[in-house]
Amino acid sequence: MTVPMKSVEDPVTALEGVGPQRADALKSLGIVSISDLLTYFPFRYEDLAERELATVTEGEKVTLKGTVATEPTVVRFGRKKSRLNFRLLIGHDVVGVTFFNQPWLSSQLTSGQDIAVYGKWDAVHKSLSGMKVISSANGAASGAIYTVNKRVRQTAIAQLVHQAYDAYQDVIYTVLPEPLIKKYRLLDRKTMIHDLHFPNDPEAAKLARRTATFEEFFLFELRMQMMKVKDHQAAGIEIDYDNEKIKAFIKSLPFELTHAQKKVVNEICGDLKRPLHMNRLLQGDVGSGKTIVAAIVLYAAITAGYQTALMAPTEILAEQHAKNLATVFADVPVNIVLLTGAMKAKARREALKHIENGDVDLIIGTHALISEDVHYRKLGFAIIDEQHRFGVGQRQALREKGQHPDILAMTATPIPRTLQITAYGEMDVSIIDELPAGRKPITTRWVHSNQTEAAMDFIRQQLSHHQQAYVVTPLIEESEALDVKNAEAIYDHLSENFAPDYKVGLLHGRLKNEEKDAVMTAFKAGDYDVLVSTTVIEVGVDVPNATVMLIFDADRFGLAQLHQLRGRVGRGEVASTCILIADPKTQDGIARMEVMTDTTDGFLLAQKDLELRGSGDLLGTKQSGVPEFKVGDPVAQLNILQVAQQEAIALVDQPSWQTQPANRELAGYEQHLLKQHSTLD
Ligand code: ADP
Ligand code: MG
Repeated sequence: MTVPMKSVEDPVTALEGVGPQRADALKSLGIVSISDLLTYFPFRYEDLAERELATVTEGEKVTLKGTVATEPTVVRFGRKKSRLNFRLLIGHDVVGVTFFNQPWLSSQLTSGQDIAVYGKWDAVHKSLSGMKVISSANGAASGAIYTVNKRVRQTAIAQLVHQAYDAYQDVIYTVLPEPLIKKYRLLDRKTMIHDLHFPNDPEAAKLARRTATFEEFFLFELRMQMMKVKDHQAAGIEIDYDNEKIKAFIKSLPFELTHAQKKVVNEICGDLKRPLHMNRLLQGDVGSGKTIVAAIVLYAAITAGYQTALMAPTEILAEQHAKNLATVFADVPVNIVLLTGAMKAKARREALKHIENGDVDLIIGTHALISEDVHYRKLGFAIIDEQHRFGVGQRQALREKGQHPDILAMTATPIPRTLQITAYGEMDVSIIDELPAGRKPITTRWVHSNQTEAAMDFIRQQLSHHQQAYVVTPLIEESEALDVKNAEAIYDHLSENFAPDYKVGLLHGRLKNEEKDAVMTAFKAGDYDVLVSTTVIEVGVDVPNATVMLIFDADRFGLAQLHQLRGRVGRGEVASTCILIADPKTQDGIARMEVMTDTTDGFLLAQKDLELRGSGDLLGTKQSGVPEFKVGDPVAQLNILQVAQQEAIALVDQPSWQTQPANRELAGYEQHLLKQHSTLD
């Protein structure tokens, strides 16, 4: 048996005519290996259906099929310019075809040959200004159009792909397991690559693309699931809580849990009890009642004799949690201690002592919880609130404290399915998709900027009823300095406007953390009636008396962000209002304002947000955290993504999947996948 010398991992320089210079040009398109070239898929295909010449209109770009009727002639003018002419017989019509500056085509075309030419139609002269000759080495017509740049031409890519396919087709192995290919009627990899580049008809191209999409999603999900398994197996603890105590505790609450809350409590408790490591994300819209869920599961771990921790992104949030939980745990034996960076040295020393000798069951704090000098007695479970506010490193540091605690991350930002499956694919996800009954809905109104004074009158009226208001100032993407300047200007204006009746506070990103906390605390205490702020308004801070949220230039914000901002109100007994001031100039901006006034459902908004971003705005999708895919579109093709995820889960659930014959190629690929781990963060 001979060992194959060729591999699709060979560099492109293995191809004829590719030297260092051309290799460098290809690199500018992200093509380094043969495999890169073979998977450099066309972004579209020219329609190869026969066209009646009579139906082609002046200036239309079209692909015409015909027979070369005359030998091509080349006329050169100047050093680099040339014109190539030939006649093409289409049915009973003869049309002239001209190519500018592609003299090499003459060697590829001869009289009598059947070809398809893509170009621009000149109806007056009955001629085609050719842009691309579409014909493939193995005879099949191919309308593949690739993304190219100045350094690499369309024809060059097409030619190299042919060469690579011809030379390497025997070493293209199918990675997807056979049963999946059968189940979903996909193609083997060699056929897939062939049909993507050289399809005989549009149907073949479509099926090939479907296969490529599934393959891409499946491999991605497999990597996620493998990470998850690895993660679960790492130093897990079995937290054997006291079910009776938990039931009694839940019964003692002043309200009935919603179904959604019960469901997630069960999911989290299930994780606690399993000897695997917990890495779960709890998401629930603002006001959905995550705090009480946190309290129940913290209490569960405490009944099993473990220490627990709750980490919040700011001092004020940590204090708010400490105060709330002290009330919630008033009748059960739970000792709480607060640990923040702002604490005086003596108080801190005290706290550290209690943590170390195990006098306390629940430690609530900021990132002070992960300082080196904090030594936990028996930390078995930790919750991270508003998890996206912490870096990967900080979350990891918490995991490495104590007994390698189980981790529950909480977020109020609804995460659409696409993101859950991709960006958070390595975590288990619990969702509270229901608000407690009896919530006062928030009314949202969108007005143009010429209505600003009327909006101010509305605010004044609310203030006269002893309510409070937030005023959010425009977002200036380029510069925080400009954000601050804007906020200051609006603050000056409002201070003057509302003086002497009402007091106005100012919050922005340039303030120190302690200053921010001080302003928030004052607003919460009612020392300010109006709070002017940039987007730094602390997430999660509860000021039930604030019932108006006014957002300037609202169309500059994304839907998810507007929803978060709006969630600052609607937390009390009195109905709240959100006023969006915006003069959107784009369809997208108008659409966002309309969605905001139509719904307060965070999940719906998050999905819409992704869809709106997806329509053209690539940067927007990037910012949304959705990983980039080569072929598949995880937003538009969510259904395929979901199926791929289910199949990946089912596969890694089989204990010996790597050794099954059907997964041979995949198992080899696995090593390759594992190497890519570090690129995920
Ligand atoms: P968030 O998910 O935004 O953190 P909170 O946990 O702060 O929400 O809950 C918001 C409010 O709803 C709190 O005042 C809390 O006591 C109350 N709450 C939570 N669960 C319920 C429930 N099942 N029924 C009624 N009120 C509830
Ligand atoms: Mg909360």
